[in-house]
Amino acid sequence: MEAKKGANRKRRTPQNGESQTKKKRKHEEVDGKSKSSSSFLDKMRARLSGGHFRMINEKLYTCTGSEALSYFEEDPALFNVYHAGYQEQMLHWPQQPVNIIIKWLKDHSPSLIVADFGCGDARLARNVKNKVFSFDLVSSDPSVIVCDMSNTPLESSSIDVAVFCLSLMGTNFSNYLQEAHRVLKPCGWLLIAEVKSRFDPTNGGADPNRFSKAICKLGFTLESKDFSNKMFILLYFKKKEKQNSKVKEIDWPELKPCLYKRR
Ligand code: SAH
Repeated sequence: MEAKKGANRKRRTPQNGESQTKKKRKHEEVDGKSKSSSSFLDKMRARLSGGHFRMINEKLYTCTGSEALSYFEEDPALFNVYHAGYQEQMLHWPQQPVNIIIKWLKDHSPSLIVADFGCGDARLARNVKNKVFSFDLVSSDPSVIVCDMSNTPLESSSIDVAVFCLSLMGTNFSNYLQEAHRVLKPCGWLLIAEVKSRFDPTNGGADPNRFSKAICKLGFTLESKDFSNKMFILLYFKKKEKQNSKVKEIDWPELKPCLYKRR
């Protein structure tokens, strides 16, 4: 999947397993040709859709949000291909960050109003009691509001918790964070879960401190961070109660794409 050595080792296991099942396959060929040829076709189909997923994924990490919106507007079916591949990748993660955010929300007041930026299948909204505004480029559920999240229809200072769970994909990701800052109430929460390898400076990733500093300059304070998970980092910010009137130049780091390897 992403460029983590340990993770790659783990993912190769099924391939290693294939050679161990050679004997079994031979047996199936003798028992019935159709069984082995259909499993071959299944494998080819999976390989093709896996390739398609990786292509869409790379596109989303290397274009702006508005380009991504037009991309899916032209062919909304690509969104299903993307999400089927995304769910498949998630199966290999020991823990899903969205579940940690769901737990965080359950540990806080259900009266907090939430905005889920890049909600995917709106799993977060389906699992909490809070009022959740879910945004994505395509609506897979009637509750999802279709937009480029750099420009949501939310009122300014109307939200208690802004969530970005693996969704800072566009090259203009700083615009998404600016939008979150606009819609959050003073002292509102900004929760970010992102792929760990994107913040590994020894491997071309961004310096997580530089990233946090840039967000703080936008008008937040870093409340806590959690780097304990193997695949993702979690950052918890709070919007400052009073904003500095001077607009500062913010030195945003580049966030490298999270490219998934062929399995
Ligand atoms: N947060 C969900 C889905 C993560 S996948 C989860 O954790 O399960 C990332 C999602 O962000 C994708 O569905 C993608 O379409 C969405 N996304 C990326 N850029 C976006 C943008 N500019 N505006 C709205 N959604 C965006």
